[in-house]
Amino acid sequence: MDEKREISLQRASQLHEEIEDYLAFKDDFLRNMTEIRDVISEKHKEELMNYFGADESDWNDWHWQLKHRISSVSVLSRFIKLSEEQYSMFEDISKKFRWATTPYYLSLMDYEDMSYPINMMALPSSAENDTSGELDPMSEEYTNPAPCITRRYPNRLIINVTSSCAMFCRHCQRRRRIGECDRIESEENIRAAIEYIKNTREIRDVLITGGDPLMLPDEMLENIIRQVRAIEHVEIIRIGSRLPVTMPQRITPELCSMLKKYHPLFMNVQFNHPGELTKDAVRACEMIVDAGIPMGNQMVFLKGINNDKYIVQMLNEGLLKARVRPYYIFHPKQVTGTKHFEITVEEGLKIMKYLRGHTSGLAIPQYILNAPGGLGKIPLLPTYIKESDADHVVLTTWEDKEVEIIY
Ligand code: SF4
Repeated sequence: MDEKREISLQRASQLHEEIEDYLAFKDDFLRNMTEIRDVISEKHKEELMNYFGADESDWNDWHWQLKHRISSVSVLSRFIKLSEEQYSMFEDISKKFRWATTPYYLSLMDYEDMSYPINMMALPSSAENDTSGELDPMSEEYTNPAPCITRRYPNRLIINVTSSCAMFCRHCQRRRRIGECDRIESEENIRAAIEYIKNTREIRDVLITGGDPLMLPDEMLENIIRQVRAIEHVEIIRIGSRLPVTMPQRITPELCSMLKKYHPLFMNVQFNHPGELTKDAVRACEMIVDAGIPMGNQMVFLKGINNDKYIVQMLNEGLLKARVRPYYIFHPKQVTGTKHFEITVEEGLKIMKYLRGHTSGLAIPQYILNAPGGLGKIPLLPTYIKESDADHVVLTTWEDKEVEIIY
């Protein structure tokens, strides 16, 4: 064997050692996940369908999913065994921050273990009693130049078309708007928002969000998208939705046929844990991508859910298989009632540093902290520059090896 091949083989063996722990974790995780997703969730689905007297076509109908949202503790307790203390805590928290889950999302939960990430994202916790933080840390109410509009940047803005969502995520960063009522913005407000965009010629990128804009019926949503698309200076339209995750039944052939008329259109979703990447959710994403709509994922770092380098890697690699590009990882904002999900920037950066070198660049999103006061996004990057001046720069590689470049 020539010397170069021998060195290459030694290096390949070192690289294999680097990834061995992750591979063992992944095998183990997938075994458990297959059990939870394909066996237990199917069983839960059967139980839920029996309880509601539904059949498969009801289950696959998003209107049915919405109509049968579970928002009462007594109904929930028919499926998840709650202690007396948990029962009254759920009722108590519901008075402060409303909760609801689709039957689909409930079917993904672990009925025995409240610390399972899917449960944690959907069901109330006593930790929500912590009143630190703010309800509007982004000062959205001060970046609202017209009804339904949030504007933080020179040439792009957000139009919030509804406060309604399929479920009320416990980590929601817009708690002040979401969950109090299911309100679709009035025609008058939408008209005023469209007028504002029309009269602001520098706006080239419009993000339609809420709440969740896919909660609107197709015709109503199309009416908004059509008006935005008709504005000459609007180049791209984006939709922000979590429904492919929490109620994938919403993604229908009719919705996709409608959306594809308004290209260039992009969609961002929010998967936070590989347990959310079910067959139904993947199918929903594939339908959207097949309609020519590029999809990006905006994960939020959440303690107990995804503050783990291997979980993030598995999620991002799984998303790429579903043709969804990991786009952003958001640092959690300090929103009242969500303190138990917070992590430190240092912890987030360690995970980002691990990803570089251990997975493909396509699976590495940008880590973003939204500055308080609506001051915009700040990208957070591990430091790779050790020293730098006019003559040279010293950098560190993903394995922490130092390299020097002399100019
Ligand atoms: S889908 Fe988004 S806006 Fe709606 S409750 Fe969840 S995090 Fe909040």
